[in-house]
Amino acid sequence: MSHAGPRSTLLDALPWLDYAFQPAGQPVPTDAAYGQQRHSAQVVLATQNLPPKSCESDGVIGENQLPVAVYTADCLPVLFADTQQHQVAAVHAGLKGTLSGILNSAIDALLARGARTETLHVAIGPAIGPCCYELGKDLVSQMQQRADLPALQWASEQPHNSAAIRPQARAHHQGVWFDLPHLARGLLLQRGIPAEQIEVLNVCTYCMAESGSSYRYNTHFDSGYQSRFSWIRRRD
Ligand SMILES: [Zn+2]
Repeated sequence: MSHAGPRSTLLDALPWLDYAFQPAGQPVPTDAAYGQQRHSAQVVLATQNLPPKSCESDGVIGENQLPVAVYTADCLPVLFADTQQHQVAAVHAGLKGTLSGILNSAIDALLARGARTETLHVAIGPAIGPCCYELGKDLVSQMQQRADLPALQWASEQPHNSAAIRPQARAHHQGVWFDLPHLARGLLLQRGIPAEQIEVLNVCTYCMAESGSSYRYNTHFDSGYQSRFSWIRRRD
């Protein structure tokens, strides 16, 4: 992986924006707006989070050319680009925030400002993958009972990740291996965003990304961990 972090083919194709899924520990652009993240469904405008962490929010909608950012460990950094109005948004979506509706809130905010679902392009960056994300079976059963959620994906046997550069997470509580990016993708599809406009980067922070990027890995090995920033901005 390059020092600058992985790239999204979808976002790279849009010449009017800049973005990065930065490796852990790299400083965010100095003019970036980001919230005090709380695993909520709260989405605000960039200027409401200047200076950064001015308010509690897990999604920030770009204004002018200001970069909007989120910081993540194992949660999903989700970057939105609207080709209709040249809008951008950065969203922090862990399991809790995803279940609280943060992706829907971000989509609603973009639609309210002139986007259409068919003009949204979404890249889901490095996050803990199904190769390393163990969840209790009871939690998955609870999620299955929610009629508003798309089909869930998980495996009772841990999937082998052939792209791992360090050992995958070891089972801790006889749970299941849950695919959080797949849930996020399903929610975006459910809202009508075309499948070809959703990209999951499939970089697992636990076993594939640079060291220091996984909160869970640090919990298991006490190896140290630093936030990774993901940001996006409109260029013109
Ligand atoms: Zn992994």
